[in-house]
Amino acid sequence: MSTVDADLDAVALPVTTDDVEVTQAREARVGAMTVRRLLPLRLRRSVGAWCFIDHYGPMSVDGVAGMDVPPHPHIGLQTVTWLLAGNVLHRDSLGSEQMIRPGQLNLMTAGLGIAHSEESPAERDPLLHGVQLWVALPERSRRTEPAFEHHAQLPVTRSGGLDVTVLIGSLAGTTSDATTFSDIVGAQLYASDAIAGARLAVDPSFEHVFFVVSGAAAAMSAVGGTDLRPGHLLYLPPGRREVQLAATAGTVMMLLGGVPLGERLLMWWNFVARTPQEIEMAVADWQKGRFGEVGGYGGLPLAPPPLDPSRLIRPR
Ligand code: MN
Repeated sequence: MSTVDADLDAVALPVTTDDVEVTQAREARVGAMTVRRLLPLRLRRSVGAWCFIDHYGPMSVDGVAGMDVPPHPHIGLQTVTWLLAGNVLHRDSLGSEQMIRPGQLNLMTAGLGIAHSEESPAERDPLLHGVQLWVALPERSRRTEPAFEHHAQLPVTRSGGLDVTVLIGSLAGTTSDATTFSDIVGAQLYASDAIAGARLAVDPSFEHVFFVVSGAAAAMSAVGGTDLRPGHLLYLPPGRREVQLAATAGTVMMLLGGVPLGERLLMWWNFVARTPQEIEMAVADWQKGRFGEVGGYGGLPLAPPPLDPSRLIRPR
């Protein structure tokens, strides 16, 4: 999963009604997969510390490459892997090797630097559906040591007719054990039955985004509902104490939020930094093998795209 700033040229302006904003994902390629890239946006580089959202599938990975992301480096962020269907094998330069399945969380803290691969395993489920998220590490924490954690079980609670699974942070009175470095929340919301006007309490100091990964939903406000389908990203500014939602039976949504980061991020390829020099150094470190080896992957590591200095002039 990676981004280069050139991708952002394709982003449409947001549709804004009331105090909500809805943007449309752009298509991006990750190996052989086409994904919906919901964040970053040209006009919104982060939501809380969340700085990258890819949603992929559901897609058949039976008899095809499926997910195949060769070893590649990260700095300055955490990666969050969350599946709705299928299985993915993670390997990293710390020696971790971990299969992940729906309902589980893989959380990798890059900090100073880590390399990893992600692939559909040889023994794979035929369907793959998931999200890949990045959390920017704040200035005070971004030079932390790299780490990997797998959460086989996450807390689930019931609120407003929704099954709320808390990946990171706290929601609906329930808290995840996942390691955080800023005030953020990440949760899956599942409507087993149709809901109308379900109220979900949220932290008013947080800004939030909602997106539908399966089904259809509407975010209600004083002037009506905002229809949401897969590929739509709804942004809500800080100041709300609750969100009202409607959804068809079987809808799965994600809610991500946090205190606005207030730091200017410079994102290029798989790196989250602050200055062009840091990016150039990370590229050189990767090319010189300083991120360490990812054992067990049956292919070559990823080469970075050409570094165009004009795209690294000014953090946005
Ligand atoms: Mn990665």
